[in-house]
Amino acid sequence: MANPSVVVLGGGLSGVAAAYTLARAGRTDVTIIERGAGLGGLAGSFEKEGRFYPLGYHHILHRDRTLLFFLDLIGALPDVRWRKIRMFFRHNRGLFDLGSPGGFLRFPMPLSDKLRFVRLMLRAFNKSDWSDWHDRSAVDLIDAWGGPGVRRMIFEPLTRLKFDLPCEDVSGAWLGARLHFREGSAALGYIPRANWTKVLCDGVTRLVEKAGVRVCLRASVTKLHARDDRLCEAELADGRRVGGDLFVSTIPTEIYCGLRPDDATPDLAGIRYTALISVVCATRQRVEPDFYWMNLPSLDRAACGVFLLSSLNPTIGAPGDACVNFVTHVQRRDRPFFLQGDDELMAGYLTDFREIFGFELTPFWTNVARVPMYSPIFFRGYRNPPVRSATFRNLYFAGNYRTFPSIASTGTALASGLEAGEAMLADAGGRTDLPACVSRFRVRRWPKG
Ligand SMILES: Cc1cc2nc3c(=O)[nH]c(=O)nc-3n(C[C@H](O)[C@H](O)[C@H](O)COP(=O)(O)OP(=O)(O)OC[C@H]3O[C@@H](n4cnc5c(N)ncnc54)[C@H](O)[C@@H]3O)c2cc1C
Repeated sequence: MANPSVVVLGGGLSGVAAAYTLARAGRTDVTIIERGAGLGGLAGSFEKEGRFYPLGYHHILHRDRTLLFFLDLIGALPDVRWRKIRMFFRHNRGLFDLGSPGGFLRFPMPLSDKLRFVRLMLRAFNKSDWSDWHDRSAVDLIDAWGGPGVRRMIFEPLTRLKFDLPCEDVSGAWLGARLHFREGSAALGYIPRANWTKVLCDGVTRLVEKAGVRVCLRASVTKLHARDDRLCEAELADGRRVGGDLFVSTIPTEIYCGLRPDDATPDLAGIRYTALISVVCATRQRVEPDFYWMNLPSLDRAACGVFLLSSLNPTIGAPGDACVNFVTHVQRRDRPFFLQGDDELMAGYLTDFREIFGFELTPFWTNVARVPMYSPIFFRGYRNPPVRSATFRNLYFAGNYRTFPSIASTGTALASGLEAGEAMLADAGGRTDLPACVSRFRVRRWPKG
């Protein structure tokens, strides 16, 4: 087929990257079908009083090479600034900045465990390939490199917060790769006077449109029709049908498997997603002490974490505004916590705030985002499904359910789309220069914070 038509299901960053890879390699008939009002998916934004905010905290990781490459491609990299942030760990009503010598020394953990904790972190920082830990649990990793005391004090509460699972059931490879990214200790990136995810999503939207990709928004795929061993049409909620020779699915696997329960691709049907609630609000009150990220591992609060977005990017809101983000991971979207009304939800977060900071938070606007399928649960033994469907020979997969054990980020989503595009081109004897461009990419000059 000289110029096959390609349909990309889902317009999050992985879908956009897949479409861009194909269009850049000369495919002229590429369509993205996205149910939202714009491209970007989880990296999308909302608007309040003429400014844009992320649905929930987003920072740029300095090791996220594909993200840095795309930011450069859209001309936004020179605007990125880096800042060391303060991350608090709340324990027994006390706040501990484990990244500072004072906070670390004050933390009520035996000195021997503190030394083991440092050893664990240093080993993880220096290890980039975690494939040898795929079948082992977070307990195996932490107990071997840190110790049970470190696990009980720090990591058991964190894996409960994230997946509602004990370390025993969580992948050691996933935890190790997460530590490798040094999210809490390296400087994090942002773009002053902007929400950087909006800059990114606008930039990649322009990129695909310029490359000739058709973008079909507010279009929900409700059926996928097949003929023999090939998908042939995506049916939309309004009854329209979009036919294609080749397909890329970037929608969450639970949705895809609902549309095609007969797809027998290994490791696909067993993926389960956690849900997430993220409430962003603005206040003119001064929030002290200053921090960007606070973990609430006591498990007795409505929130799992609180972020002060204006601490990373002081210009994200209007001058003088503090921008607070409450986040709760919920194991499944049918849990009562996920289904409660906004008023009840906010009441829980305001109680949390009073308990932690000692005064009433009075926001002047609030945005509630409910994400029913946020993150795959990276259980022990998790395996990425292959890039090609085992059932439909013209279907490819992309998304952060395929980037295990890496931290799931904007950059890994982009990388996954790129990989699907590359596989599709390779199967037709074509190629793309993008993977080589990304792996060659180096930040020429790191701007200061
Ligand atoms: C609160 C929060 C904080 C985060 N923090 C960071 C951070 O600090 N740094 C970082 O780099 N990353 C962060 N991320 C992660 C990052 O945003 C995501 O991993 C990435 O955007 C996922 O992209 P994706 O394309 O894989 O998936 P998605 O964005 O989920 O894309 C899937 C798309 O498919 C669409 N879709 C689903 N079903 C259908 C259907 N039936 N028909 C049509 N379309 C459909 C969806 O609307 C969506 O646009 C964060 C995410 C969240 C939610």
